[in-house]
Amino acid sequence: MSNITVCARFRPLSSKERRDDGHRICIRCIDTETFIFKDEKEEDFTFSFDRVFCEESKQAEVYEFLALPIVRDAVNAINGTIITYGQTGAGKTYSMEGPSVLEVDEEKKGLLPRVVDGIFEHIKSFDEITKYSIKLSMVEIYMEKVRDLFDLSKDNIQIKESKVQGILLSGATEISVSDPSQALQSLSTGIANRAVGETQMNIASSRSHSVYMFTIQTEFLGDKRMKAGKLVLVDLAGSEKVEKTGAEGRVLEEAKMINKSLSALGNVINALTCGSGRANHIPYRDSKLTRILQDALGGNSRTAILCCCSPSPSNASESLSTLRFGGRAKHIKASPRVSCNEDKCAKKHETLFENKDESSDRIL
Ligand code: ADP
Ligand code: MG
Repeated sequence: MSNITVCARFRPLSSKERRDDGHRICIRCIDTETFIFKDEKEEDFTFSFDRVFCEESKQAEVYEFLALPIVRDAVNAINGTIITYGQTGAGKTYSMEGPSVLEVDEEKKGLLPRVVDGIFEHIKSFDEITKYSIKLSMVEIYMEKVRDLFDLSKDNIQIKESKVQGILLSGATEISVSDPSQALQSLSTGIANRAVGETQMNIASSRSHSVYMFTIQTEFLGDKRMKAGKLVLVDLAGSEKVEKTGAEGRVLEEAKMINKSLSALGNVINALTCGSGRANHIPYRDSKLTRILQDALGGNSRTAILCCCSPSPSNASESLSTLRFGGRAKHIKASPRVSCNEDKCAKKHETLFENKDESSDRIL
């Protein structure tokens, strides 16, 4: 059993923060894991995470520490999940996508394009008797509904659980991708379909949780064994409190839904880490987000959370709440296992993905 990986990332001050706060910052990094955070009342809090990425940290460093080990495992059929958490404007999407998933500047590339390159890079090392296929699904959770970002007519995707494959997005479009550029084009199409709103925080922020799911299936032609790893990346909607956004009407409704699902996520984490000896109830079913993250948080996945924060004192209370979330999540234990069904693999023409054993599927 290992703990899930939790990292903090502080983006550089924005020009507005620089102007309004006179270049002040509220963090001081001590070493690669420890930093001191000063809150609004000038009180110091010391945090220790698996890694802290300070303002000058590079996109490549974040990928190498947080994502690369998970990508390597996913290619070897161990599920992985990477989550970005934080208030609007804290750098979640920048970390996940970079300025765009099609960014050509090597330095600026975010986790997604690096993950795509990493998957194909690792697969190249397979011998000829190993066949593989990579599929990509993209959904967003918007107002407690799961929408297919590759087919907007599918606006209420059901979440199912299968004994073999774990949590599934039932009926969501799966695009087979055979090279990195095809994968990036597909991601870019899906991203363009997301619900985007404008809040008074003055940033075009995503008001939905974006979920990118890669399924990497490998088949050993020699002994017909088949394995599959699921790699899920989640760019969460902003975690700020509703009052701060100045939201009204539809935007207020969206913000309430976002707060509801993020508090459900917090409740699941609390239930998983409350340390009671008996098997306690984990409220995965309280939101679509926690259902989709059930594998990631419940154990059968290597999971990493990037807690994104502004370094500005003006955002100190939201940053502190993000860091406290990360601090709690650090106590979750996971013991991911290889997803392989040898009985089913042995049967010709039957693959993990064509498993039609409906009796093992149930709508959550
Ligand atoms: P979020 O997705 O958390 O709402 P964004 O990722 O959109 O926030 O970031 C807000 C702004 O800050 C964007 O203009 C983005 O380019 C910039 N930004 C975020 N993180 C960094 C970083 N590490 N380096 C440079 N700019 C960043
Ligand atoms: Mg964003």
